[in-house]
Amino acid sequence: MLTPSHYQSAWMNEDVRMFRKTVRQFVQNEFVPHQARWREQHRPDAHAWTDAGRAGILLADLPEDYGGGGGTFAHEAVVLEELAQAGVHFGSAIQSTVAHYILAYGSEEQKRDWLPRLARGELVAAIAMTEPGAGSDLQAIKTSARRDGDHYVINGSKTFITNAAHASLVCLAAKTDPKLVGMRAISLIIVETKNLPGYRVGRPLEKVGMHGQDTCEIFFSDARVPVRNLLGKAEGRGFAQMMEQLPYERLQIAVGAVAMAEQAVAITTSYVKDRNAFGKPLMDLQNTRFKLAECKTAVQIGRVFLDSCIERHLAGKLD
Ligand SMILES: Cc1cc2nc3c(=O)[nH]c(=O)nc-3n(C[C@H](O)[C@H](O)[C@H](O)COP(=O)(O)OP(=O)(O)OC[C@H]3O[C@@H](n4cnc5c(N)ncnc54)[C@H](O)[C@@H]3O)c2cc1C
Repeated sequence: MLTPSHYQSAWMNEDVRMFRKTVRQFVQNEFVPHQARWREQHRPDAHAWTDAGRAGILLADLPEDYGGGGGTFAHEAVVLEELAQAGVHFGSAIQSTVAHYILAYGSEEQKRDWLPRLARGELVAAIAMTEPGAGSDLQAIKTSARRDGDHYVINGSKTFITNAAHASLVCLAAKTDPKLVGMRAISLIIVETKNLPGYRVGRPLEKVGMHGQDTCEIFFSDARVPVRNLLGKAEGRGFAQMMEQLPYERLQIAVGAVAMAEQAVAITTSYVKDRNAFGKPLMDLQNTRFKLAECKTAVQIGRVFLDSCIERHLAGKLD
């Protein structure tokens, strides 16, 4: 472990520890050796999804009834930590996020249809909120879903969409009522993209990091999606649904961020012990020790705050 041996997250238990071993073995054997290629092609291999599904690392915190691992957020956190510590960028967090939207707002039929296939990695999920003209200001989205009989006709474009290169199930935020302004106009619609006329994925965008994981633009031009794919019992609830689910997504991001920061300190500590300058290891120079102590402190504070958030989330109290 990269955190000091005397520190132990309170949410860790024997079951989660055993699960970590399985995840670590899978990530090290099946993902780490292919990282150079993933980074070059700006996406994971397509079969990585079904491989991960078979190994049981997708949807670790979803009920077994729907094909998930039957664990808690602690299991999900362990997957994200192991990926981050191994330097692997793989959008399983998005897969979980979308599954949680379906679990929370989907009909029984929708859950039975999509969740087991997401857990097996047969469907790859993306979430499409951001647009070229709307990021933090989500109410400003322009993508529209116009009702036409039993279908929505979807037009617009989204950007920064993680997993889009392989995505076969997109949880889309769109305006279902052009007459309304603000949050009541937005709905979430599940788009199954395989062979869908009017749906197109752009090439992966260049990023400053996370090169092994694709982030693309997607385009809708009169794409027709069945009305039964609306998430929730009525239109206009999308914004409220996103606000309810964003804490889960933000917590996932925090887990990866802290794990990466811990790894950065660990790698640097090991480097300065090995590297010699002026006749001694860099670690013996006082400035190196001061700087590392600062980094270690910041990371440890992040870890303790994160653990507190995880505990609150596990208790159903994280707002
Ligand atoms: C690697 C990566 C993956 C992503 N994956 C996805 C994905 O899968 N699906 C998806 O929908 N989106 C995704 N996004 C998009 C992400 O959610 C947006 O980047 C984010 O919502 C911010 O939007 P923006 O980039 O348009 O920035 P803007 O909203 O334009 O913000 C620009 C600046 O203004 C600041 N700002 C914004 N609002 C306020 C305010 N109220 N007060 C003060 N300052 C403010 C911001 O902090 C920022 O510095 C991804 C982004 C990245 C980088």
